[in-house]
Amino acid sequence: MTETLHIVGGGMAGSEAAWQAANAGVKVVLHEMRPKVKTFAHQTENLGEMVCSNSFRSDDDEQNAVGLLHWEMRQAGGLIIETAHKHRLPAGGALAVDREAFAESVTAALTAHPNITITHEEVSDLPAEGRWIFATGPLTSEALGAAIQAETGADRLAFFDAIAPIVYAETIDMDVAWRQSRYDKGETEEEQKAYLNCPMTKDQYEAFIDALLDADKTEFHEGETAKYFDGCLPIEVMAERGRETLRHGPMKPVGLTNAHKPDQKPYAVVQLRRDNALGTLYNIVGFQTKMKYGAQAAVFKTIPGLENASFARLGGIHRNTFLNSPTLLDAQMRLRSKPNIRFAGQVTGVEGYVESAAMGLLAGRMAAAEILGHTLPTVPQDTAHGALIHHITGGAEAKTFQPMNVNFGLFRPLEGLKGGRRGRRDRYKGYTDRAKSEWSGWLEDQVNFTSEATEKA
Ligand SMILES: Cc1cc2nc3c(=O)[nH]c(=O)nc-3n(C[C@H](O)[C@H](O)[C@H](O)COP(=O)(O)OP(=O)(O)OC[C@H]3O[C@@H](n4cnc5c(N)ncnc54)[C@H](O)[C@@H]3O)c2cc1C
Repeated sequence: MTETLHIVGGGMAGSEAAWQAANAGVKVVLHEMRPKVKTFAHQTENLGEMVCSNSFRSDDDEQNAVGLLHWEMRQAGGLIIETAHKHRLPAGGALAVDREAFAESVTAALTAHPNITITHEEVSDLPAEGRWIFATGPLTSEALGAAIQAETGADRLAFFDAIAPIVYAETIDMDVAWRQSRYDKGETEEEQKAYLNCPMTKDQYEAFIDALLDADKTEFHEGETAKYFDGCLPIEVMAERGRETLRHGPMKPVGLTNAHKPDQKPYAVVQLRRDNALGTLYNIVGFQTKMKYGAQAAVFKTIPGLENASFARLGGIHRNTFLNSPTLLDAQMRLRSKPNIRFAGQVTGVEGYVESAAMGLLAGRMAAAEILGHTLPTVPQDTAHGALIHHITGGAEAKTFQPMNVNFGLFRPLEGLKGGRRGRRDRYKGYTDRAKSEWSGWLEDQVNFTSEATEKA
């Protein structure tokens, strides 16, 4: 008899993790607190409930990183993606689904699986014994949140995100922006030039403030308590407090000299900070916002140097429970301080239905392999799954860690392909071809031990 795997949370990640582990021949108990304990967003007691939009985003596996994640999940027999395709609705290139039929179908598949038992109960601590995956999502129950904080330290589990927009580095105009840390702080040249700076004249700053004040904003969902922390007020709220507030906050021009025009003192400066070890992504420092996406792109492109910027992700502030994964989790998604416990899904600091299910897929396979006496081969970094897990467990800057969706900025560059907008189609095709070949190889490497286990079960 092999050891039982306990999975807490039957959302996107927990459902996928249960499916993957059970198919590998491992007995799974899935603990879902609904309907006994409710969240403000879930409406049913189904597993795999989509809490808001009914879209899994782009299904294009050649030119889109989410579409590539879909492709990889399908190759791995992913329950969430297969079921989504079964209940697909017409939506152009997007994978939109009939949400009720989708969740009912996920629930039916898990209920019928001979290796899965489902219990409806809240788990409110991190057990010292047994093997566990916690996939409790952005609305992790209060009691469990407190138990996680007790284990990790209060500052390592956030209850709200504060996401600043992230720009692809190659789309920043370096004839306008320059590299410099404020007051050239830092021991090494790399640290002294860690930031990219975009200068503004007085007229540009005033026009920017007007655009911020006029932009359409999103509201918090019903049930989310609007809570801002002093350190992360939305920029438009700062602008509402006074037209000069930003110039004395994240846009202050002090300690910086424009390398292109050393004689001209900027009136305000927008700073961008590296967001990943690869140096392909930069976040706009202090620019968390509740502006609508369309408005954000229009407003941020008025910043000198960002006129042609492409955004890997736009900003937001949401109720969202997530770990500081780069410091807390090892490469196998285990809690460093309690390695019998894994985390998966949105609570690990990925963002979105697809990314959460993908992290469930990996955690389920990792835990199953461990129970069967194997170690899952390292997920290749140049796949969509690999790029994401690498980011959250090490590639991201731990100090400023915020949830991330999958995007090509997380991929290691391919040698010999043209940069910039013109080379984009070829580059993305290159990334997706490389990923598909590596993902297929990785799946092949696991066939032997999973089939042995399934025969024994
Ligand atoms: C209001 C809101 C709107 C969102 N809108 C979108 C959107 O439109 N598109 C998108 O892609 N993403 C959206 N998200 C993010 C979305 O929640 C995730 O993408 C996805 O659902 C995360 O999957 P998950 O499995 O990690 O968490 P979930 O799908 O939330 O699953 C977690 C499960 O764990 C259960 N649980 C929690 N605590 C416990 C416990 N202690 N014991 C037992 N069970 C527990 C919960 O009941 C839940 O079923 C939204 C999030 C919120 C909060």
